[in-house]
Amino acid sequence: MTDCIFCSIIAGKIPSQKVYEDEYVYAFRDISPQAPVHILIVPKVHIESATNINSDNAYLVSKCFEAITKIAESENLNDGFRVITNSGKDAGQTVFHLHFHLLGGRPFGAGLV
Ligand code: 5GP
Ligand code: ZN
Repeated sequence: MTDCIFCSIIAGKIPSQKVYEDEYVYAFRDISPQAPVHILIVPKVHIESATNINSDNAYLVSKCFEAITKIAESENLNDGFRVITNSGKDAGQTVFHLHFHLLGGRPFGAGLV
C-alpha cells in the first residue's frame, strides 16, 4: 500500500533493524524502544488494524505469533514478555498497518494487564 510506513519498511524502501523475516511476516526493532527489547511484528500484507482481521486473513495473525515465539527465544526472553496491539484512536494507534509490539527484557509489573 502506498503511504504506509510499514509497507515501505517491508519493501526495504525505508531502512529498519530486521530481526526476523519469513514468507508472511517481517519483524524489526521499534525506532523508539519502550523496553530493552521492543520489536514490531507485522504481516507483510497490509491490514489496517485488529478490526480488519477476518476469516480470510486470520492465518496471518497466527504466523505473527509463531514468529513471536521464535524471536522471544532468539532474544533470550526466557523470563517472559508482553505482546500488545493498539487498535484505533483510543488505544493510541499511530501506524495503521497491523503490528504486534513484543516487549521484554525487564519486569513490567502490574497495570495495563
Ligand atoms: P502504535 O502506536 O501504532 O501502536 O505503534 C507504532 C510504533 O511504530 C511506535 O512504537 C513507533 O515508535 C514505531 N515506529 C514508527 N515509525 C517507525 C519507523 O520508521 N521505524 C521503526 N523501526 N519504528 C517506527
Ligand atoms: Zn502497510
